Amino acid sequence: MDKPRVLIHREEIEKKVAELADELRRDYQDKHPLLIGALKGSFVFMSDLIRKLNIPVEIYFIMLSSYGAGRETSGKIKLLQRVKTPIRGRHVLVIEDIVDRGLTLSFLLDYLGRRKPSSLKLCTMFDKPSRRVVEIPIDYVGFTIPDAFVVGYGLDLDEKFRYLPDLCVLEEQE
Ligand code: 5GP
Repeated sequence: MDKPRVLIHREEIEKKVAELADELRRDYQDKHPLLIGALKGSFVFMSDLIRKLNIPVEIYFIMLSSYGAGRETSGKIKLLQRVKTPIRGRHVLVIEDIVDRGLTLSFLLDYLGRRKPSSLKLCTMFDKPSRRVVEIPIDYVGFTIPDAFVVGYGLDLDEKFRYLPDLCVLEEQE
């Protein structure tokens, strides 16, 4: 049985979301950006962020099929449905929960980049750079975290723990 232990408290997360929102507001004030989140993990961060941003944005979610069971994703990424909103000429900001090996984001940035957006940037709440396999440019980072499997704030382990308001690591319990 795994027991969650708090790594980043909800108040720190809330403060960081506000800081990121301030930065993004300055950069995207008059650009009416298209925010694209990868389901399911990014939905909590996306909903907190857009309410702090306080500028007009459009949001879109996509589902990628990198998810295996347990703690490792398969590494083979597939888009489960084509992005149906126009990308060409838009200022696109990808909103991600966590960047780990970088495989998911590398696939997504390539897919979106080929659709000729005016700009394409990436904002992630959590980053585990020590695990990186593919180098990807990250424009906005909330927290850099150590190499540990984390849950909460939208992140799950086999659909459990997503609802936790703090970012937690799992500890083994008898
Ligand atoms: P990558 O392709 O960068 O290896 O993996 C990215 C995806 O793997 C994330 O969007 C997330 O769904 C999942 N992932 C990576 N690290 C973690 C983690 O520590 N906890 C959880 N719950 N999911 C993770």
